[in-house]
Amino acid sequence: MELLVLGSSDAFNGAARCHAAYVLRDEGLPSIAIDFGATSLYALRRQGLSGLDLGAVLITHLHGDHFGGLPFLLLDAMYHEPRTTPLELAGALGLGKRLDALMNALYVDIASRPRPFETRLTEIAPGEVHQIAGYRVEAFAADHMDPPDVPLCLRVTGPSGKTVAFSGDTELCDGFLAASRGADLLVAECTGMRPPCGRHLSWENWRELITQAGARRIVLSHLSREVRDNIPQLLAQAPSHIDLTFADDGLRIQL
Ligand SMILES: [Zn+2]
Repeated sequence: MELLVLGSSDAFNGAARCHAAYVLRDEGLPSIAIDFGATSLYALRRQGLSGLDLGAVLITHLHGDHFGGLPFLLLDAMYHEPRTTPLELAGALGLGKRLDALMNALYVDIASRPRPFETRLTEIAPGEVHQIAGYRVEAFAADHMDPPDVPLCLRVTGPSGKTVAFSGDTELCDGFLAASRGADLLVAECTGMRPPCGRHLSWENWRELITQAGARRIVLSHLSREVRDNIPQLLAQAPSHIDLTFADDGLRIQL
């Protein structure tokens, strides 16, 4: 299994990086993206990929830096690199309605046109397990938005048996810990150095979480400029027996 970091920044493109998003690929299956923010189509092209390489996109929650790039992906598949194979879009409850609203806001003249490919939409509630493009996707409740929004932490397992957990955006919560436990790789947010930094995890959380999260390997992402500026000092503070990496755009990890 391979993880490619498309983008590693917070919502503000801190340190000129793209919005946090990832591509996962396992043997014999199409690649899938995890989150697709406003800058993610650009990030995909920077890595030499195209929308046609993706069999599915998983969306952890309905904030623009995590799903705001979907209209551009759909438009690309209609007009620029025409797609004929189905595209699976799966993610937090309300994804269908919110994506329709976004398409209507950005491309009102195109939103209701038929697409020459099938778009398969799956909305996922915490506690559910789905097969998406051949991957097993397990969802847990994140603590990041108020109802009716239900943000997710996701655990994705491929045919190789490897499991990658994604925090999405969240504060420390049971769902995050359940998603992380025993994962071969945990890709998690570290938005600020310390609270307050919104409903996010900070380095202050991670000083303890590094040993408690229960993942074999940890990649911290969704980094603000301040966190990125401090990476050498933060790595020096981390226990040496933990495999910790700070994400950067274009980082590839083989599992
Ligand atoms: Zn968010």
